[in-house]
Amino acid sequence: MTLADYMAACLLDPDHGYYATRDPFGAAGDFITAPEISQMFGELIGLCLAQAWLDQGAPAGFALAECGPGRGTLMADILRATRAVPGFHAAARVHLVEASATLRAVQATRVPGAVWLDRVDQLPELPLFMVANEFFDALPIRQFQRDGAGWRERVVGVKDGALALGLTAATPLAALKARLGDTRDGDIVETCPAMPAIAGTIGARIAAHGGAGLVIDYGDWTSLGDTFQAVQDHKETDPLAAPGQADLTAHVDFAALAAAVAPARHTRLTPQGVFLERLGIAQRAQTLADGLHEEALDAHIAAHRRLTHPTQMGDHFKVIGIYPDGATPPPGLNA
Ligand code: SAH
Repeated sequence: MTLADYMAACLLDPDHGYYATRDPFGAAGDFITAPEISQMFGELIGLCLAQAWLDQGAPAGFALAECGPGRGTLMADILRATRAVPGFHAAARVHLVEASATLRAVQATRVPGAVWLDRVDQLPELPLFMVANEFFDALPIRQFQRDGAGWRERVVGVKDGALALGLTAATPLAALKARLGDTRDGDIVETCPAMPAIAGTIGARIAAHGGAGLVIDYGDWTSLGDTFQAVQDHKETDPLAAPGQADLTAHVDFAALAAAVAPARHTRLTPQGVFLERLGIAQRAQTLADGLHEEALDAHIAAHRRLTHPTQMGDHFKVIGIYPDGATPPPGLNA
């Protein structure tokens, strides 16, 4: 089977899939995400979206949406931080796009009254202000290895009773024609078959009705090399070793994502640390620090550093903004 079929089964199988069977976040789980590290992350995202909403004339009746909300922490922090923005809550209809029934139940405790959707194409035809943090990296990818002018697909099969990776015969692929220009024999490129339709729907809503999108994830402008990885208990493991028990991800190809949101516009790809600094994380951190002492203060300083420092999440994670033609880019991001 393709890596995409393997990843989809491992992550989302209703009985055995990774996200379908557990809440994987936090110190006791397998990995920790930015909203779980500090409330500052969601607060600043909330203020960014609220400012974008004000900049576009505060449309009444808009979808405030999140793709892949995990524990619901990010949306809960967004809602708390925007409570004081006049009219924002009255106009917001909260929509959470989530595939896992287990995680929907966790989200319902944090974001009561939200509307849950299976797919982004079910979002209402309204202005859309949305965020996706570590969502696109969970979408299944395919991998192709360059062989002359053709490509061999990396596939999962069974060898000597165990799962093993193999390669198909080389074939020319029209979809990868452009990549013949920037790759050499043996190079691996990745594609994400579900991404264009999802990003395209988000872009279409924002282009038609207004709004702003923030996509935050690891990855670079172009996909080059094998970025398929498994994480279990905060450590990298073999992606074939324990299907359904480890989180499987791949880097996001932001160039492909940016192309897919047209006719909406997109900002430059910006490191997470730079984005959060521009939104004022240093001032927010200082205000929160005033009430803290000893271990709590140390943890707060470490969390701030973890979100922003170039050697931690600050550079590894990137942000891209999506906005309609004629509007200003979301705060913290440049056209
Ligand atoms: N944004 C959260 C969680 C990231 S983990 C955070 O930052 O903490 C990925 C999330 O996307 C999980 O909630 C997972 O269940 C969800 N997910 C993965 N694939 C999905 C799909 N195809 N459709 C909808 N949700 C999906």
